[in-house]
Amino acid sequence: MSDFLPSAIQLGYLVAASLFIVGLKQLGSPATARQGNVLAAIGMLIAIVGTLLEKQVISYELIAVGIIIGSILGTIMANTVAMTDMPQMVGLLNGFGGAASALVAVGEFWRYLSIPESPTPDATITILLGVLIGGITFTGSLVAFAKLQELLPGAPMTFPLQQPFNAALAIALLAGSGYMLANPENVPVFLGLVAISNILGIMFVLPIGGGDMPVVVSLLNSYSGIAASVAGFILMNNMLIIAGALVGASGIILTQIMCKAMNRSLSSVLFSAFGSGGSAATAGAAGAAIDKTVHSIDIEESAMMLGYARSVVIIPGYGMAVAQAQHAVRELADGLEKMGVDVKYAIHPVAGRMPGHMNVLLAEANVPYPQLYDMDDINPQFDETDVALVIGANDVVNPAARHDTASPIYGMPILEVDKAKHTIVIKRGMSAGFSGVDNELFYKDKTMMLFGSAKDVVAKLVAEVKQL
Ligand code: NDP
Repeated sequence: MSDFLPSAIQLGYLVAASLFIVGLKQLGSPATARQGNVLAAIGMLIAIVGTLLEKQVISYELIAVGIIIGSILGTIMANTVAMTDMPQMVGLLNGFGGAASALVAVGEFWRYLSIPESPTPDATITILLGVLIGGITFTGSLVAFAKLQELLPGAPMTFPLQQPFNAALAIALLAGSGYMLANPENVPVFLGLVAISNILGIMFVLPIGGGDMPVVVSLLNSYSGIAASVAGFILMNNMLIIAGALVGASGIILTQIMCKAMNRSLSSVLFSAFGSGGSAATAGAAGAAIDKTVHSIDIEESAMMLGYARSVVIIPGYGMAVAQAQHAVRELADGLEKMGVDVKYAIHPVAGRMPGHMNVLLAEANVPYPQLYDMDDINPQFDETDVALVIGANDVVNPAARHDTASPIYGMPILEVDKAKHTIVIKRGMSAGFSGVDNELFYKDKTMMLFGSAKDVVAKLVAEVKQL
């Protein structure tokens, strides 16, 4: 029996790790994402039960209190958070993950103080890595959360002598770590290193603009995984090592996908202030070249154009998410299909404020998956499309990205809506999108602007299409 339990736990960990990998794979497609989530959750349950059965657990009471408080808070947060606020919630959760890993490292340091044995150099390096990565993830995520929640100004925050200050912190960190290798139980130096790690996290995120926070959150997500993996090495827990590595790898892949879809390098996101005054100024310059006449259209005419078209492609964007118009959009598509119109949705990888934002919203409104088209699949079809219906999207349909070398979004892959026979754009006014640049699409002869808030306008379109 005594041999059976450890083997059963390791086997359980293997099953859990396999479920994580299959679950992650299934999360890659909207059709299988729900099932992937369920599989990964079952894997996590197995991992938790396995860990609770390990003999390292000293007190079940504290764990039970933690589970109860965490479950209540988590359920409330998950049920009340708006879809558009999801990046900051993920940011906060990453921060907690980082803090947990750092605390494991601190706990291990303290354990060594209470036993006669001193930590080996390997153990000291692992403890210091846990404190460093966990600390940076914790405070960096809190700053990212505060910027996204507008508790801190979104603009990049800099101060005089910032670079020398950061360099001094890095030197102190290296020197302190070297000292700890020779004196692994020195409490003041250890606490100093904990403080420096936490300050570094703040210094890392403060100079980055609020608009780039989703990319930063994704990167910190990766860090939280690495921190968890390090905690796994400290606790000699294979499950934590594997799960942390999976989070670390998927976070970095997601970061890369986001950067590619915005045609920006990770270094430009981390070290240049995008979306601040600079891009707005360029926007003005680029905007001056555009003929500023817009053609507006009313609900009735729009409904007729849509209802009598053969093919309509719907392009959802951030504005649709803010307005929570996805259910009305689904109703509109249903109405058009009843009239024999071929309806598709074009999904840009960074439409909205987080990857997959549009897929999640449309899935919530039960839009059939086969109607969702990725950018590469839909772009060749715009030539043949009668009406492109842009709902609260802006940057992801800006043709300047193709030809205006002065534009901050030059080179960003876009949905080529301007190639459709007609375009209807639903938005409240002529405000710019996330990048702050004007959009020449709105001034083209083939483009009709249907002004109003997305949910309201689409609901009226649904009613009007029913009358046709
Ligand atoms: P944009 O941010 O470019 O534009 C959104 C538009 O929605 C605005 O022009 C606004 O115009 C309109 N809008 C706002 N509220 C409403 C409403 N209630 N009803 C109708 N329209 C509304 O959105 P896109 O989705 O086109 O592009 C996303 C941008 O975010 C890209 O620049 C991308 O790089 C960036 N980004 C995306 C990330 C991601 O992972 N998805 C991560 C980081 C950045 P008006 O005020 O006139 O209504």
